[in-house]
Amino acid sequence: MMDRRHHLWASAGLLAAMVTGFPSPSAADGELAVPVVDLHVDLSYQLNFKGRSVGRGTGQWLSTELVRAGVAGVVLPLYVPHEVAPGGPRLGDIERSYQQLFSALAVTEPFGLPGTVPGVRRVRTWLAFEGAAPFAGRADALAAWVARGLRILGLVHTHDNALATSSGAGPEFRAVATGLTVAGREVVERALALGVAADVSHASDAVVADVLAMARAVGRPVVATHSNARALAAHPRNLTDEQIRGIAATGGVVGVNFHGPFLAVGRRAALDDVVRHVRHVVRQGGIEHVALGSDFEGGILAPRGLEDVRGYPRFGAALLASGMSRNDVERVCATNALRVLGHT
Ligand SMILES: [Zn+2]
Repeated sequence: MMDRRHHLWASAGLLAAMVTGFPSPSAADGELAVPVVDLHVDLSYQLNFKGRSVGRGTGQWLSTELVRAGVAGVVLPLYVPHEVAPGGPRLGDIERSYQQLFSALAVTEPFGLPGTVPGVRRVRTWLAFEGAAPFAGRADALAAWVARGLRILGLVHTHDNALATSSGAGPEFRAVATGLTVAGREVVERALALGVAADVSHASDAVVADVLAMARAVGRPVVATHSNARALAAHPRNLTDEQIRGIAATGGVVGVNFHGPFLAVGRRAALDDVVRHVRHVVRQGGIEHVALGSDFEGGILAPRGLEDVRGYPRFGAALLASGMSRNDVERVCATNALRVLGHT
């Protein structure tokens, strides 16, 4: 049912209507310009905590390059570093980040405002949380954030918080027995009811299991916005094959991350490693359940050939060269992400 519907949707050209202003895919000079919807770009972090602009960031996601690179949409996480307050971020810290981000997006081409349809040759934006501890005991406050463009809720970052345990900050695997707290379950339950996808990137394995069970029970998708396959790179931030299959079974997606240590262990990663992870997720979960969550502007060690936003068309061409159809390349780069963002 799901496969058939999405095939019809894509072939009816509704993707083109969704992301207007982009040319039909064409491969030239090792590049394939397809619409891209990236599930995780840390421009809010750069703006709010690194003193950089939304338009320039560190240079990985230059606003002047976005349309040419095919970028049609992006999820912007409101990430507040743990160190901002001794006990971790507070609601006011997230609110301030939002206000600053909104103001910056309003005056920076080609960005649209979160959750809106900004028109031809503009980049759609949606909001996410990457760490939602301030909502512990305040799940009621989430509805107002959906009105602001929130579509994805990541419970936890690199520190355990009031909602959930974390996969940790480094490459060491932690033994974590407990998953979601009572407050964490309330937040997930409310998010799912509001049509916000729960994001298990950064969560411990115990939390992934808890969130998958909750989402299955209500028929809502789970996403891992920026995580890779542990079978190819043994890092606690990556997903086991069982977890990938579990996410796919909810109708969700794994957004493949461009950070070198999550792509390959013990060597510098390259563009082909991203293709390898995409293909692994496809083998485990199916073509409907893989997307992109580059983590650009989040301090990543970008792979060779994918150093910045200008690499997306090379990535599209590499997927095509790996044997994927153009329709499947479009699914990976945009269509699957749009589905979990609620555009079906
Ligand atoms: Zn992250």
